[in-house]
Amino acid sequence: MSTTTQILQSIPVDPLTGAISVPIYQTSTFVQEAPGVNKGYDYARTGNPTRATLENIIAQLEEGKVGAAFGSGLAAIDAVVKLLQSGDEILAVDDLYGGAFRLFTQIYQKFGITVNYVDSTNVENVFNAVTPKTKLIWIETPTNPTLKISDIAAIAKIARASGCWLCVDNTFASPALQKPLSLGADIVLHSATKYLGGHSDLIAGLVVTKDKELGERIRFIQNASGAILSPFDSFLVIRGIETLNLRIKQHCNSAQAVAEYLQEHPAVDKVFYPGLSSHPNHAIAKTQAKGFGGVVSFTLKTDTEEAAKGFVTSTGLFHLAESLGGVKSLVSHPASMTHKSIPAEKRKAAGVNDSLIRLSVGLEEAADLIKDLEQAFAKIKQEQLQTA
Ligand SMILES: *Cc1c(COP(=O)(O)O)cnc(C)c1O
Repeated sequence: MSTTTQILQSIPVDPLTGAISVPIYQTSTFVQEAPGVNKGYDYARTGNPTRATLENIIAQLEEGKVGAAFGSGLAAIDAVVKLLQSGDEILAVDDLYGGAFRLFTQIYQKFGITVNYVDSTNVENVFNAVTPKTKLIWIETPTNPTLKISDIAAIAKIARASGCWLCVDNTFASPALQKPLSLGADIVLHSATKYLGGHSDLIAGLVVTKDKELGERIRFIQNASGAILSPFDSFLVIRGIETLNLRIKQHCNSAQAVAEYLQEHPAVDKVFYPGLSSHPNHAIAKTQAKGFGGVVSFTLKTDTEEAAKGFVTSTGLFHLAESLGGVKSLVSHPASMTHKSIPAEKRKAAGVNDSLIRLSVGLEEAADLIKDLEQAFAKIKQEQLQTA
């Protein structure tokens, strides 16, 4: 096993010029000396040296054999689903990322791939829901936006015993905190748009497989379907990964401070953060991850959309936007943003109340972030007094 330092050190200095950062090979094709005689690259959809460097780094970071970089997290998810065929079933965590849910139901269902959903925080549910047709178990841990945690090693055992693959969407944790392949998963997936890129300036997806043969199949799909990551965005993700450990440490520390502050606040009802001992899956989170990440969600005692909307439009440092994992802190209101298309009853059953607010805690000083939240609470209290 290589340390992150060793992995980053393995990025070669450009042999032609000594350039210390990875060159962006902005080319579509590579000149051949004779038909089929080349320097390892022939056409840039199939392979590009900048992208290959990223694919190699992420494979090492996730302790897998093969990495593949895609134009978005959803393109990466799409490539994994293409391992399946008509008649196969996916068993997925019930509060799946909305885009994955849309892809499964609105694109793949009509090709005969069906999806069943379970609350995978209880391993028994997973065990009971596997059928002979289940080909792929799909979990996210932590989930969005209620930060539920599933036991990766236990679910991996079920997958192994049932002859299906386990794919873990590791976007919320990142390999700095959690390595699903070393816990027994077969495939790990990232929206590199979030923590790996880390600066809210790109859209990218990554897949890593534990096994070389499965990785070759993903690579085949990547080339055949063509949803590759560009050389420039590959460069940006590499640059993001160079500071990943440092950033994640700060995200975790500040998120913990914010979660503890929220827990004590009189206007707050519930706080969702796996780093709080009150979190129902805190124990498993502690054993399978090195930290608890930078996303914190909470509900208000006044559980209305109006109260939440008042809050998310009153913060200053926390910008109102979808997405997470960047330098700048973000705030969002899932009920009216990311989870708007889910029927209210189903949404609430998943814990996404009308007043649920999600924070992506960025890299500003934690004290400043708490001050910002404090003034937002004061503002909505003022407004509530005025309208009362
Ligand atoms: C954002 C996200 C995705 C989708 O990634 P894109 O890069 O937006 O296509 C998938 N899974 C999770 C958990 C995400 O947060």
